[in-house]
Amino acid sequence: MKELKTKEETKDILKRLEQIYPDPETELQYSNPFELLVAVILSAQTTDKQVNKVTKDLFKDLKSPKDFARLEPQELEDYIRGVGLYRNKSKYLVKTSQKIIKDYDGKVPQSRSELMKLSGVGRKTANVVLSCAFDKDAIGVDTHVFRVANRIGLAGSDNVEETEKELMQVIPQNLWSLAHHWLIFHGRNICKSRTPKCDECIINEYCNYYN
Ligand code: SF4
Repeated sequence: MKELKTKEETKDILKRLEQIYPDPETELQYSNPFELLVAVILSAQTTDKQVNKVTKDLFKDLKSPKDFARLEPQELEDYIRGVGLYRNKSKYLVKTSQKIIKDYDGKVPQSRSELMKLSGVGRKTANVVLSCAFDKDAIGVDTHVFRVANRIGLAGSDNVEETEKELMQVIPQNLWSLAHHWLIFHGRNICKSRTPKCDECIINEYCNYYN
C-alpha cells in the first residue's frame, strides 16, 4: 500500500495549486450543456484545442440534439474528421442525441447514472458534464488527474475508479470540481507524462514520485 497524503497535506497542496491556477475552467468551448456533452465525447484521446477547432464549425450547423439525431453517422463524420476515433464518436453522438430526445425531452440529464446511459459517456465524461455544466461537485478522473494524483500521493491506485474514490475522501467536497481542474492544469503545464518538470514544481516537497 502506497503512502497517501493526509488531509492537512492535501489542503496545502491544493492551496498551492490554487495560487498558480487561480481561475481554472475547462478549455473546451461550449455555450450550453448539450454542446459541452458533445465536446467532452469528442475529447477522448484528442486535445481540447483540436476539439475546439472542430466544434467551431460543427456548432454553427448543428445546434441541438434534434440536429444531430436526424443525421446518419456517416454524415456527421465529415464534420468531426479532425478528431481521433471520429467514426465511433459519430455513432455515439447520433445515438446519444436520439436518446436525449426520446428519454429526456431533449435535455441533457443531470444525474451521473442517467448520463452514463448515453452512448460514449463513461464516468469521467459524466463527471465533467455534472461539474462544468450543472455546477455539481464531481471529480472527473482523466489521464492528467490520474497521473498527477497518483504521482503526488493524493491517490495510490492503478485504476481510475479507485483514484476517484480516494480523491473524494481526501479532498473536501466543495473543492472537487476545482481540484479536477487544478490537477489537469498541473498535468498539462508541469507534471507532464514523460518529462515532469519536478524542479520547478510548487508542490515537489510533498510529491511521492519526486521524493
Ligand atoms: S514533483 Fe514532479 S512528479 Fe511530482 S507533481 Fe510535481 S512535476 Fe509531478
